[in-house]
Amino acid sequence: MGTAKPKVVVLGSSFAGLTTARFIRQHAGDRVDLVVVDRNPYLTFVPNIQMEVLAGHDPLETMLLDTPAIHVKDGNTFLNAEVVALDPDARRVQIVPSDRPGSAVESLAYDYVVIALGNRLAYDRIAGFGEHGDAVSSGFYGNKLRRRLAAYRGGPIAIGSARFHQGLQGKPDWLPVGLAACEGPPLELGLAMAHWLESHRLGDAHKITLFTPAQMIAEDAGEAIVTSFLQMAAKKGFGYLNNTVDVTRLHAEGIEFESGASLEAEIKIVIPDWVPHQFLVELPITDERGFVLTDRRMRNPTHPEILAVGDAAALTVPKLGSLGHQQAEIAARQIAIAVGALGHDDAGPEYHPEILCFGDIGGHQGFYIHSDTWYGGTTSVFKMGHAPYAMKLAFKEMYFRTGGKPPAFGVPATHLLMDHFPGE
Ligand SMILES: Cc1cc2nc3c(=O)[nH]c(=O)nc-3n(C[C@H](O)[C@H](O)[C@H](O)COP(=O)(O)OP(=O)(O)OC[C@H]3O[C@@H](n4cnc5c(N)ncnc54)[C@H](O)[C@@H]3O)c2cc1C
Repeated sequence: MGTAKPKVVVLGSSFAGLTTARFIRQHAGDRVDLVVVDRNPYLTFVPNIQMEVLAGHDPLETMLLDTPAIHVKDGNTFLNAEVVALDPDARRVQIVPSDRPGSAVESLAYDYVVIALGNRLAYDRIAGFGEHGDAVSSGFYGNKLRRRLAAYRGGPIAIGSARFHQGLQGKPDWLPVGLAACEGPPLELGLAMAHWLESHRLGDAHKITLFTPAQMIAEDAGEAIVTSFLQMAAKKGFGYLNNTVDVTRLHAEGIEFESGASLEAEIKIVIPDWVPHQFLVELPITDERGFVLTDRRMRNPTHPEILAVGDAAALTVPKLGSLGHQQAEIAARQIAIAVGALGHDDAGPEYHPEILCFGDIGGHQGFYIHSDTWYGGTTSVFKMGHAPYAMKLAFKEMYFRTGGKPPAFGVPATHLLMDHFPGE
């Protein structure tokens, strides 16, 4: 028993968890027993679902990555189970096998645990969403939107966000408060949808209104970028409704907002609130909303054996996979240092968020955003053209080919290529 390896449990195997597990194996080698738990034996490549929907493809055929095979190859144990509880003092998690209803609860001990469970995308908190709402965040919703587009009668289209409720307890001063969880998707979907309307001879951007609970849509991209985006969108004919406060209700004819405003819309695409999993809310390691509190090394201050990465972490605002990717490398190095596989000098840089985003805008074109002005930095790059579209496609290919572990040159090479790309 004395020679047992430290047991590391990674909860979640999507963008944040898969990459963290792979980096832990890279940095800690065989010094750890690594167990990965996810309710789904696959990763859904959410960012590219809209491209598949608008191209008429089933995202369930093209956007699912077989994650258990990757873990088996790395020597990890993959458990296809639902995480239902975590006890920080006993250092145990409770899981229920998720491949068949009726399975019994099991308990899993850990020395280190990484929480990478994302959040609930709370469509269930939007009245009328089930019947009248659409989304591009899963295979199910992608296919539902494909059916909606096939039956489209040519009416107005509304695309935007419900209010995001960020935790404020323990929030560091450098982290602003975001009113929307992730507003790159409404921007790219709006532009791509306008192209879809044109190419199907059904209209153009004049049919589409973008809405936001905030003063400015995608405010985390920085004022300069959003201002030039809004000028371009206005020229194309998009409608724009800000300060909606929140979505109150969807109905057959449109959307009602908490501000008292309303929009007429045949198709209503909403990015919902990102809500932490209920079992996290009561724990002493989370803020008042249930987001896991960490320092810039992704470790919980009172339980440093608990780390959090990706959307589940309180420091991840906005909720972007690219931020989870940055945190994965940091968390993995912390664990490798803790088990003696790396030295303290190998910790690498602390978490310093920057927005890195590729958007599809239709017609084989895209946009590229690289910005940290929202966090007080000075980087602000916004480019459009064919190259960002190619990069968005290429990233998905590279992600699948490398099993969620793109090579270290990926991000620096992206900045080198795209920050200096002249745009078209
Ligand atoms: C429409 C849309 C477009 C987006 N586009 C972009 C983009 O272009 N670029 C970008 O950077 N980000 C984008 N994002 C955000 C990105 O998808 C998220 O930030 C990212 O998925 C977060 O990764 P994660 O691993 O933290 O969480 P998730 O991806 O939510 O993964 C959580 C994992 O945990 C598992 N899980 C959850 N609960 C349990 C449980 N109780 N037990 C067991 N397993 C559980 C899930 O099955 C899942 O595998 C987009 C989001 C949306 C909705």
